[in-house]
Amino acid sequence: MADAVAERAYEPVIGLEIHVQLKTRTKMFCGCELSFGEDPNTRTCPVCLGHPGTLPVTNAEAVHFALMIGMALECELAPRSIFHRKNYFYPDLPKGYQISQYDVPLASGGRLGEIRIHRVHLEEDAAKLVHAGTSGRIHSAEASVVDFNRGGTPLVEIVTEPDVRSAAQAKEWLELLQATLRRLEVSDVRMEEGSLRCDANVSIRPAGEASLGTKTELKNMNSFRFLERGVNAEITRQEEIVRSGGEVVQETLHYDPATGVLSPLRSKEEAHDYRYLPEPDLVPLAPTEEMLARARAALPELPAGRAERLERELALPPDVAKLLAFRTELGDFYEATVSAGGPEGDPRAIANWVTGELLARLGDADPDPAQSKVEPASLAALVAMVREGAVAHSAAKEVLDTLVAEGGDPREIVESKGLARAGGDELVEVVERAMAAQADAVEKIRAGNDKAMGAIIGAVMRETKGRADGGEVQRLVRERLGDQPG
Ligand SMILES: [Zn+2]
Repeated sequence: MADAVAERAYEPVIGLEIHVQLKTRTKMFCGCELSFGEDPNTRTCPVCLGHPGTLPVTNAEAVHFALMIGMALECELAPRSIFHRKNYFYPDLPKGYQISQYDVPLASGGRLGEIRIHRVHLEEDAAKLVHAGTSGRIHSAEASVVDFNRGGTPLVEIVTEPDVRSAAQAKEWLELLQATLRRLEVSDVRMEEGSLRCDANVSIRPAGEASLGTKTELKNMNSFRFLERGVNAEITRQEEIVRSGGEVVQETLHYDPATGVLSPLRSKEEAHDYRYLPEPDLVPLAPTEEMLARARAALPELPAGRAERLERELALPPDVAKLLAFRTELGDFYEATVSAGGPEGDPRAIANWVTGELLARLGDADPDPAQSKVEPASLAALVAMVREGAVAHSAAKEVLDTLVAEGGDPREIVESKGLARAGGDELVEVVERAMAAQADAVEKIRAGNDKAMGAIIGAVMRETKGRADGGEVQRLVRERLGDQPG
């Protein structure tokens, strides 16, 4: 029996809870502007400091953004959702409660890709505790201070159904969510800066069973890499517990990416510990037809749909389509280049240039080609010149260097730098010289060793400064070998 348990295969069951800081101008329930690195406690007022007698007012822009998110995630929008007070004491929460949504969230029952969305709701962020040693402003070794600038920032919480089956899938799906939210322009969605935060609920069950095991909650993994590693570590930990005959305990865990160790944060509070009660100072959130129409009109083409369209209409491979669709600016530049290339253009070749050579030259994590000097029409013209054989691939890369740094017309660059493709008698002469100089290599090619061709091509490329076409050089070499008897 013990052996059967030890050998049984387990299936992870993972649900994600994501907090998204909205990029509104002001906070969720007061007129303070959002803070981006300002001095501590300079973006506060009596409302977000929780002074007695102050009243919250719901931020219309935050509601607009939350409606857009609900629609983008294909949720059903509640005609009338309710704000609740979630009561707990912590120094980063001056009111003693957080205004959130509880039994009637703004949106529910949606989907993004293969993962179902359980609910989407609006709430306010807590303030930020700064512990001694983490800020240059604090000199005492034992102090913790509170910066209330973050307190009251609008948050959207997105909760998935437990549809995720692996750490890799969790990471990939979160990347899709991030790209979608970024496209909506409702948040900076930077995990490292906390504007996108992800918790994971993890349990395991014998493969093929429908019941759910006891879950643990992994808190605030602040990068995609740590999310994947943390979830994997937790799956392994739970499997080891179960295989050795133990039981998983429901708890909240912190994953330390430096050591790979999972440690308990606190025992999981039951929902009733928060003593949720309807916020008496706010009316229910009942979006009007006009608000819904405005949110609908603001929805752009989303990354998943764009990737699908690029694959279908332009016959791009799935990974290339995804890369272009997930980076809005790069995708926009690509589509502008395809348009500039006209009906004669080659969308796949253009995609290879944009995602390969161009991306490498922009050298940024999330670059915008529009910020460089290269114009879509010039790149389209350059790709066409390569296609027509007017310029060799390696020389075209040199032209692209100039286009990115200085802009200009690729035809003029080719002419002024003497980069036109070597051909005709010129190329024949160079090839014959290279063959004469490398008799060894020629013998090897004659004997069937195709690798030796590289030496001849390399010599021709050196002499023409990359202006020759490798395929044509090969053809000329073979032609010459065929001419010679023996
Ligand atoms: Zn305020």
